[in-house]
Amino acid sequence: MIARAGAIMNHALQCRCGTVKGFVKAPRTANRVVCYCIDCQAFAHFLGRPDDVLDERGGSDVIQVPPKNVTFSQGIAALACMRLTPAGLLRWYAGCCNTPVGNTLATPKISFVGLLHTCLADPVTSLDDSFGPVRAWVNTGGASGDPKPRSGGLARTGVWLITTILKARISGNYRQTPFFDISTGMPIVSPRVLSSAERDSVMNAAPAQKL
Ligand SMILES: [Zn+2]
Ligand SMILES: [Zn+2]
Repeated sequence: MIARAGAIMNHALQCRCGTVKGFVKAPRTANRVVCYCIDCQAFAHFLGRPDDVLDERGGSDVIQVPPKNVTFSQGIAALACMRLTPAGLLRWYAGCCNTPVGNTLATPKISFVGLLHTCLADPVTSLDDSFGPVRAWVNTGGASGDPKPRSGGLARTGVWLITTILKARISGNYRQTPFFDISTGMPIVSPRVLSSAERDSVMNAAPAQKL
């Protein structure tokens, strides 16, 4: 983290083992969402990290930023990518230690990444200090236990996404992304798509499914 005149300029990004390192620029412009969907829970189980990634209700703390604000300074060769289904989100993680990094769509033209809190742990600067509080709670039907958490912030998140995507598209900034080879439009790592047996296994592990 680099602080200047009280404003947080960058927030450090790193995997648990320290192989992958980088930073997020302009953290205050992020949108922060807790997602309770089963797919996010399945991703945590795929990585064998549900206790680190998910809260007690199965929620994932996701920090949405434009990809141009994400810089990897080392270890990008350790980045790995998976999809739960052939058409699913690209779910990025550090293959060295199975730390989830974030989710993108399969095209760089729709330009946002939902970073997982696990790659943004910083002993000095809390997520609240850098990115502000959680602004939205989505897919709450996937939360474990009853009553379900209240959903909220959907409109704000929708506006944030549309504005961010359009700005990047109009300015051409969507081309600045560490996750894609912009000359081909392909992800820098070929995603591994789970087999149906693998998918069933991680889906069934999601806590909400056990109730
Ligand atoms: Zn690592
Ligand atoms: Zn989700």
